[in-house]
Amino acid sequence: MTATASDATAPDATAPDAASDAVPAAAHFRFFELEVLRTRRIGHSFLRVTFGGESLAGFRSGGYDQSLSLFLPPEHEEHTVLPSTDEDTWFGAWRAVPDADRPVMRSYTVREQRRTPGGVDEVDIDFVLHGDASPASRWAGRAVTGRRIMAIGPAVAENKSVRFQPPAATDALLMYADETALPAAAAILDRLPAGTPVAAWFEVPHPDDRLALPTRADADITWIVREGGTGKERAERVLEVLRAAGPPVAEAPYAWLAGEAGTVRAVRRHLVQERAVDRRAVRFTGYWRLGASEEELLAEAYAGQAASEDSTSEL
Ligand SMILES: Cc1cc2nc3c(=O)[nH]c(=O)nc-3n(C[C@H](O)[C@H](O)[C@H](O)COP(=O)(O)OP(=O)(O)OC[C@H]3O[C@@H](n4cnc5c(N)ncnc54)[C@H](O)[C@@H]3O)c2cc1C
Repeated sequence: MTATASDATAPDATAPDAASDAVPAAAHFRFFELEVLRTRRIGHSFLRVTFGGESLAGFRSGGYDQSLSLFLPPEHEEHTVLPSTDEDTWFGAWRAVPDADRPVMRSYTVREQRRTPGGVDEVDIDFVLHGDASPASRWAGRAVTGRRIMAIGPAVAENKSVRFQPPAATDALLMYADETALPAAAAILDRLPAGTPVAAWFEVPHPDDRLALPTRADADITWIVREGGTGKERAERVLEVLRAAGPPVAEAPYAWLAGEAGTVRAVRRHLVQERAVDRRAVRFTGYWRLGASEEELLAEAYAGQAASEDSTSEL
């Protein structure tokens, strides 16, 4: 039903899904209208936008790295208006809107869903602010209470947009995330059972992006504050830190990697080739790619050249 090659809310959202046989797959995702309730700066690069709206009563986040697709209005519009929200026709109708008027579709993570003591349903999404030239970052930076956007999100908690699926035998967790995947990593850490051994490497652009990450897991978190450089140099720096850490002390580790596609690919290669982690136990997702907008990634995906990696890809 949506976006990038790496996004499982994407074109296959209406495909059969073994995760929840009792519910027809088409019912796993649907449109929601989200209204901005408030915003809060939570780090140098992060803006938390809290959404509400009546339709959230039917929203069912599966937690962990639950993603969703947002539709954000063009600059000259306050709210998102889609030509159709019918599951069979929306895509064609949306694509037919002239470029200048078409809401942009972007993948984000449900940082938290909750019901307040007053009975109000809320969803937090943490946006990385990376400049006004990019539509989603610009929209978030200007978001004010009352603005309405549209989303395709989960209507059942067991859905294919929760990618974090460690096998039952997992005895330790390895995590790599950059800032775009830190909301997902934080939501995973939130939910892990007490004592779960975790070795995590989180790469952020600024020291003030080293957010507090509450968890009951036994988490050893290494922060890597980026020092600029080309994509290759960034990836090399991450690998240097990983190499210094030595091999995982676990029989059956599960690795969850997400962030800039080139770095994610490099980290996966390192784990599989240098640290003998079973490639089938590595879940990796390119959340974005240096130099490419999500439209460009989507266009590549349609052309059959998946721009972002997922665990079904080969090295
Ligand atoms: C499953 C999934 C979950 C995600 N969850 C989140 C989330 O919770 N929070 C979040 O902030 N992002 C998240 N992302 C990443 C987000 O979708 C991308 O960063 C997206 O490109 C942002 O859209 P944009 O309109 O700001 O930039 P685009 O128009 O898509 O890109 C414009 C330019 O900016 C560059 N760019 C994109 N993102 C960044 C960045 N973060 N820093 C520097 N340059 C960038 C691109 O390479 C391109 O050159 C997620 C992605 C996926 C696939």
